[in-house]
Amino acid sequence: MTASEAKLIRHDWNHEEVQALFSQPFNDLIFQAQTSHRLFFDANTVQVSTLLSIKTGACPEDCKYCPQSNRYDTGLEKETLLAVQKVLEEAEAAKESGATRFCMGAAWRSPKARDMGYVLDMVRGVKDMGMETCMTLGMLGSEQAQQLADAGLDYYNHNLDTSREYYCDIITTRSYEDRLSTLSNVRAAGMKVCSGGIVGMGEKEKDRIGLLRELANMEVHPESVPINMLVRVEGTPLEVGEDVDPFDFIRTIAVARIMMPASHVRLSAGREDMNDQMQSLAYLAGANSIFYGEKLLTTPNPTANKDMELFDRLGIKPEKYQAQRCSEKDEQVLMEQVEEARNDAFFYDASR
Ligand code: SF4
Repeated sequence: MTASEAKLIRHDWNHEEVQALFSQPFNDLIFQAQTSHRLFFDANTVQVSTLLSIKTGACPEDCKYCPQSNRYDTGLEKETLLAVQKVLEEAEAAKESGATRFCMGAAWRSPKARDMGYVLDMVRGVKDMGMETCMTLGMLGSEQAQQLADAGLDYYNHNLDTSREYYCDIITTRSYEDRLSTLSNVRAAGMKVCSGGIVGMGEKEKDRIGLLRELANMEVHPESVPINMLVRVEGTPLEVGEDVDPFDFIRTIAVARIMMPASHVRLSAGREDMNDQMQSLAYLAGANSIFYGEKLLTTPNPTANKDMELFDRLGIKPEKYQAQRCSEKDEQVLMEQVEEARNDAFFYDASR
């Protein structure tokens, strides 16, 4: 990262600054997000991951959006922990269809000691295939985080979900501090952090601002920031509610891109309900990572072929094929554009 890039990475966003980003005319916001995106990434590449549920359902937590909680009757078929061999076969298939990262998710409050050996074998096996690894297993203590890091786990996913203030309306069985403590254990163990949230749970704009401030004001930004659109699942408390305006969803992606310019912003759950035009807007707003494959844990996801067709139509390449950032000359032009775009007090302060 160059010195000029480093200056664009801030950790001191206040509420008014972020609100001003959200309140801009849509075109101005998208322009800023694109400008920022092009400074740190090739704008025509998208990182592609595959997600496998390695243990499904019967989770003791009460996340109101989640069909895997054992408190809600969603008709979900529960599965015990998959065998290591089965997971490795799925990883091999994901690799063959173009995924560079294999994410494994288990519906646990936190992994039990008896499960850790299997989970660590999964990490080692997928690493041996030459893929990046990611897991989401619930809360982690520092020792568990270190075991996973030592086995070669690259990323750990643990979402904050929403703002600190709205969080208790969504989950009561673990606190916001619990979540932050897991993220801090992951970071201390040397793994990369994947953490984001969900839009459309009845939260207000101030909660989206609160969520993004929590993430962007961390000492180190999460390397991966999933922005999910709520998938309403029958039987969950959030089955019925007002859907988010699609432009507000795109705005959330754009603001995340501006606040965490060097992170991958992941267009995550909810893609099944987005048409091609909306997904394209999300890429334009700075989303540069997707989950790929037919199932996103327990809710549907567009098929891999459909994603590749859209990539072709948009001239997007999966990241492994073309991961170069913009040239020095482009960077100079873009830095000038950033300076020009600083037309109010709330855009980047490059002097920080
Ligand atoms: S989101 Fe995770 S922790 Fe919450 S109920 Fe679902 S599986 Fe359990």
